[in-house]
Amino acid sequence: MEKSEHVMMIGAGAERFAKMKDIELVDPSYFYTETRFKQLQQIKDKEKTQLDHDGGTGSNENIFIEGKKFGTVGAVALDAYGNLAAATSTGGMTNKRYGRVGDAPIIGAGTYADNSSCAVSATGHGEYFIRAVVAHDIAALMKYKNYTVKKAADEVVMKKLVDFGGEGGVIALDKNGNYAMPFNSAGMYRGVIKNGKAEVSIYKD
Ligand code: ASP
Repeated sequence: MEKSEHVMMIGAGAERFAKMKDIELVDPSYFYTETRFKQLQQIKDKEKTQLDHDGGTGSNENIFIEGKKFGTVGAVALDAYGNLAAATSTGGMTNKRYGRVGDAPIIGAGTYADNSSCAVSATGHGEYFIRAVVAHDIAALMKYKNYTVKKAADEVVMKKLVDFGGEGGVIALDKNGNYAMPFNSAGMYRGVIKNGKAEVSIYKD
C-alpha cells in the first residue's frame, strides 16, 4: 500500500513485488496445520465446500465445540484522528477450487473502510458477500440514506444477505465509535474494546 500506487496485487506478480521490496516470504508449509489438513481430507471426495469454522454440517452450529474455533480474524478500528480501518484474514472455504477468491480481500465485499461512513470486516460464505457487496452496501446506506451503523448493518446482514441465502456476519464501526456486530448464523465469536474495557461474546445478546 505504501510502496506502489495500486490497491490490490495478487499471485506471482505480487510475490515478485514483495521480494523486490524485501518483504519476508514463507514457504507454503508454514501455513500447514494438522486439523485443517484433516478437515480437507474429510470433505475432499465430495463436490462440496465448507466454511473452515463449520462443524461439517454446512451450518455454523458446531463452531462452538471446544477447540473448533478457528477461521476468520477480522478487525475494525478508529484512531484519535478519526481514521477508520478494516482488516480481514481468512482460512477461506475448505475444498475450494484452485484460484477461488473469497470476499475477505475484495474491497467492498468482505472488507471496507471509509472515514466518512464506517469500517466493516465480514465473515461467512464469501460468494454471497461478494454478490451482495456487503461491506460497501453498509457504508452506502449510512452515507446516502443517513442510516446509523446498526440500522445499516442489520439491513444488509439480516435482510439482504438472508434473502440471498448467505450465512455470516460483520463487525462494523462508524466514525463516532458506534458499532454493530450482527450475524445471521447461530453465533459469531466477537469482541470489542472501548475506553480500555474489553467484552467478548459468542451467541446473540
Ligand atoms: N468469508 C470467507 C470466505 O468465503 C470465509 C470466512 O468467513 O473466513 O472465504
